[in-house]
Amino acid sequence: MRAIIIGAGIAGLAAALRLHQAGWETLLVERAPARRGGGYGVTFGGIGYDGAERMGVLAELKRRAFVTRELVYRKPSGERRFALSGETIAATMGKKAFNILRGDIEAVLYEAVAEHTTIRFGTTITAVEQDADAVRVTLSDGGTEQADLLIGADGLHSATRALVFGPEEDYRLDLGHRVAVYMLKERPEGLPEGTTGSISSGGRTFAMMSVGDGRTAAFFGYRTDGARARASLEELGELYGDMGWLVPQALEGLKTAESVYFDSISQMVVDRWSKGRVVLLGDAAWCVTLFAGYGSSLAVGGADRLGAALERHGGDVLAALAEWEAELRPEAEKKQQLGRRVKGVYAPRNPLLLELTQLPLRLSSWGPVRRLVERKFQLAG
Ligand SMILES: Cc1cc2nc3c(=O)[nH]c(=O)nc-3n(C[C@H](O)[C@H](O)[C@H](O)COP(=O)(O)OP(=O)(O)OC[C@H]3O[C@@H](n4cnc5c(N)ncnc54)[C@H](O)[C@@H]3O)c2cc1C
Repeated sequence: MRAIIIGAGIAGLAAALRLHQAGWETLLVERAPARRGGGYGVTFGGIGYDGAERMGVLAELKRRAFVTRELVYRKPSGERRFALSGETIAATMGKKAFNILRGDIEAVLYEAVAEHTTIRFGTTITAVEQDADAVRVTLSDGGTEQADLLIGADGLHSATRALVFGPEEDYRLDLGHRVAVYMLKERPEGLPEGTTGSISSGGRTFAMMSVGDGRTAAFFGYRTDGARARASLEELGELYGDMGWLVPQALEGLKTAESVYFDSISQMVVDRWSKGRVVLLGDAAWCVTLFAGYGSSLAVGGADRLGAALERHGGDVLAALAEWEAELRPEAEKKQQLGRRVKGVYAPRNPLLLELTQLPLRLSSWGPVRRLVERKFQLAG
């Protein structure tokens, strides 16, 4: 059995690895000219944790995990408001979850699968046709490929989805926020190693995260209502001009950043993830957004379960896809609902709402409550 996978991100690489383990041959098609790295810190857990364990990559992922020793909430001036300790953060995450750089998840999956797949970089998909027996794909290098299954793992702006399911606008649900994330060349002195600092004010959030080995990620997220709706990356300086602390250093770092993630926060609401022998996986299918904090985990868990379903059904790809979707959809939809709930309270413009939404966090930073929280989550974990 053979699969063509479009996109060598977390979902695509995980699918290539799991399908190889199920005895499939795979071809990965990636638009970027080479492997991408860096990104931002994500929390990895849930079905992704179990999937990674079954695929044999959990130990390596854990080895690259980073620990946040302190999360400091600051005023726009940089003054400290309150902080969560490393113990509190770890306790609320539970035992089967850890923080890791998005690029490190990709690196671990790539290293595990590189020898067992073919990757065509700098290439994309331009046409798809299928019949009862096979799917045929035309690629941007002029080549054509045939397979038993085509997996669209090409992210939020999936070309596979556009070709087979229809235009992005038919499925995209914008959550009214935009985000810019990138790695800094070095960690500014004001950010102690292993800590994160965060500022939220007037519908804008800024965070700087030390993710181990001197690596540092900068994060800007803001509401896109009113005049900000079309703000470009170049206008980030204006948008955050009144903020102090390490905001100026982060803006300076933007000028030399190797790759910047700058996009709207949008979900994908696709009523069927497969059409015949074409299936969507990861952000291309469901994009739960960073508000749900579970996209990488769902991508890996989804790939693991897809491979398992294909294994169970042998040559019956359509039966496998139907069973896989029935099993996974409730989990993805639950996380999408969480993302939509968080949308309203994330980076509120109203200072009172900001105080209210941060009240539980502020309380958790206070000794007696902190101990209670740590105990409660440890008992549950
Ligand atoms: C700021 C932020 C914080 C996050 N925090 C968390 C978190 O705490 N926990 C968590 O689990 N998740 C988190 N996520 C979500 C997570 O990063 C994504 O859900 C996950 O990376 C999705 O992986 P993917 O492979 O589906 O898509 P992508 O990572 O978008 O990968 C798609 C791949 O396809 C390639 N591609 C795109 N178009 C084409 C094309 N036309 N042809 C060929 N290739 C193409 C791209 O170059 C890329 O390599 C966060 C996301 C953001 C933005």
